[in-house]
Amino acid sequence: MNQYVKRVLGELCARNQHEPEYLQAATEMLQSLSPVMDKHPEYEQLGLLERFVEPERAILFRVPWVDDHGHVRVNRGYRVQHSSAIGPYKGGLRLHPSVNLSILKFLALEQTLKNSLTGLPIGGGKGGSDFDPKCKSDREVMAFCQSFMTELYRHLGADVDVPAGDIGTGAREIGYLYGQYKRITGEYVGVLTGKGLAYGGSLARKEATGYGLCYFVEQMLAAHGKGFQGQRVVISGSGNVAVYACEKAQAMGAKVIAMSDSCGYIYAPEGIDLAVVKQLKEVERKRICHYVERVPGATYHQDASGIWQVPCDIALPCATQNELDLDAAKALVQGGCYAVGEGANMPATLEATEHLLASGVLFAPGKAANAGGVATSALEMSQNSMRMSWTFDEVDEKLKAIMTDIFQKAAKAAQEYGPSPDNYVVGANVAGFLKVADAMIAQGVC
Ligand code: NDP
Repeated sequence: MNQYVKRVLGELCARNQHEPEYLQAATEMLQSLSPVMDKHPEYEQLGLLERFVEPERAILFRVPWVDDHGHVRVNRGYRVQHSSAIGPYKGGLRLHPSVNLSILKFLALEQTLKNSLTGLPIGGGKGGSDFDPKCKSDREVMAFCQSFMTELYRHLGADVDVPAGDIGTGAREIGYLYGQYKRITGEYVGVLTGKGLAYGGSLARKEATGYGLCYFVEQMLAAHGKGFQGQRVVISGSGNVAVYACEKAQAMGAKVIAMSDSCGYIYAPEGIDLAVVKQLKEVERKRICHYVERVPGATYHQDASGIWQVPCDIALPCATQNELDLDAAKALVQGGCYAVGEGANMPATLEATEHLLASGVLFAPGKAANAGGVATSALEMSQNSMRMSWTFDEVDEKLKAIMTDIFQKAAKAAQEYGPSPDNYVVGANVAGFLKVADAMIAQGVC
């Protein structure tokens, strides 16, 4: 490993001992950048890595709200503004009890690299709260969102920081957040993306991350003489990313045979009926176990991680970080899986990723493969600024072109810097980093 990288990694570990997720993401990135630092020794003089691994700003705040029983509840709100080197901070808001600073710092770091890969002028950030919108009434969710935005609004702006959805933050939450922003500032500007179509949202934003994942994986498969047609696909999760990854994979001729939520997974050897999943998850907000009551031939299995034991050709982890560990990776390889595309952020652990790569599995890292969501968010920002709306097909065409371009960038950087030309993990980290590095150098020490 390059000595500069080794030193920065050592210092980072010492300073952030209690942030395992952040260390995991930063370690993967720094290791990938070793050949870049060999080639550019001048980066050490500029302190580029030390600056890059320290977020520009991390905001932490109290979010008080009143529940339906009249009790005052208090959650913790965050916004990590990681890098504004190439544009305003951009990245989602996660609402989940597991949210903490470590998780948001890892997500913000990855977001900076991802946003750079899109080729669009957007920096990286991420935020959220340990609030759990599950089992809350609409009024409680609204009360939380209004309180959250009452503090966060002062740090946002169409040219400052533009959040979006993420786990637990869907159309309902974005609507409440936007309403409160507008009410406080009196401004009707594109300060959030993932908005409803009636008030400035973009067509195809809902579908973008899942569709974009399939476009990226399609490119990766095509580069190796393969395709989705007739392949058995396993997809974890049944949220926004998973549902639209399933829709596009099916449209490309794949047979999706398993999906999950945090409680368990469904196995449908004849192929998932996506209309039933959508009805359960998007309309009724119910658990995926109810699928088997509506579709004969499907089975439900408690323990979500069991999904990786299902033999498949292609696996698309689309749920959450570290859901695919070393044992899962081994099971996938044994079951014949030859390609993995990360729809979620960092769903595979470092050990799992290493095992998959060492086993010759084609691996599409999340920061490249799931960039379609944020890319389409940037298209939503453009439409807001221009006061116009593109059609679904126009947005989808742009999304496809962006994902193809991201694949080519990752492949080119892998060719130049990777231990092998198929190592898109290194390719994505390097390609994402180099653009931000150029901007940081041009802007001086800041
Ligand atoms: P959603 O909240 O819509 O869905 C998350 C899904 O994952 C739910 O079905 C949830 O089940 C399930 N899940 C959570 N934890 C586990 C687990 N341990 N095992 C199995 N399933 C689990 O989130 P999104 O679909 O928006 O996001 C999913 C991932 O994709 C996240 O990592 C997010 O950061 C990433 N991402 C999202 C983008 C977007 O545009 N939405 C863009 C880029 C990345 P349950 O309902 O039981 O909790």
